[in-house]
Amino acid sequence: MLEQILVDMQKADPEWNMVILRYFNPIGAHPSGNIGENPNGRPNNLMPYITQVAVGKLPELGVFGDDYDTPDGTGVRDYIHVVDLAKAHVKAIDKLRTNPGCFICNLGTGHGYSVLDIVKTFEKVNNIKIPYSIKPRRAGDIAEWYASPEKAKKELGWEAENGIEEMCRDSWNWQKGHPNGFE
Ligand code: UDP
Repeated sequence: MLEQILVDMQKADPEWNMVILRYFNPIGAHPSGNIGENPNGRPNNLMPYITQVAVGKLPELGVFGDDYDTPDGTGVRDYIHVVDLAKAHVKAIDKLRTNPGCFICNLGTGHGYSVLDIVKTFEKVNNIKIPYSIKPRRAGDIAEWYASPEKAKKELGWEAENGIEEMCRDSWNWQKGHPNGFE
């Protein structure tokens, strides 16, 4: 809906130039371990939940459904490292300088990973056990969701450089150094 509003606005007033970036599932943190996310209250998203279990703030992860039509039955998403996301924004600013009118593109890696892929990779890369149990599906979730990154590559000259291991490593590196964010 927001995209439609912006597209219409640009048509109505072509002096506007805009780039609309469709984020898939950003996770990770700055590799220094000094910039990361600290959601208020109980996290809704997967990675902050995992890191809070890892740091001992939450007892276990609830996996929302293992009966989806995916390889292991858990939800599949396209996770993208926040540093790659940041770099795409720099490219987007360059794109704006070319007066693109309205440019829309996906930002993802093009690879889908399941909830259990993330848990297992986090455990392997960081050498920490993440206790979990299977819970009912979460209302509104879909089975799988991943990007085609082709347009971003072709027209922004951007593609993700980090993989799921770097995302898991950097998320944990941030959380363990800042169990309560910047408090
Ligand atoms: N998920 C989960 N337990 C949680 C949080 C998320 O099993 O505590 C699952 C969720 O069902 C989805 C995936 O992890 O399959 C990513 O969820 P998230 O909320 O991070 O992102 P989104 O739903 O926006 O894709």
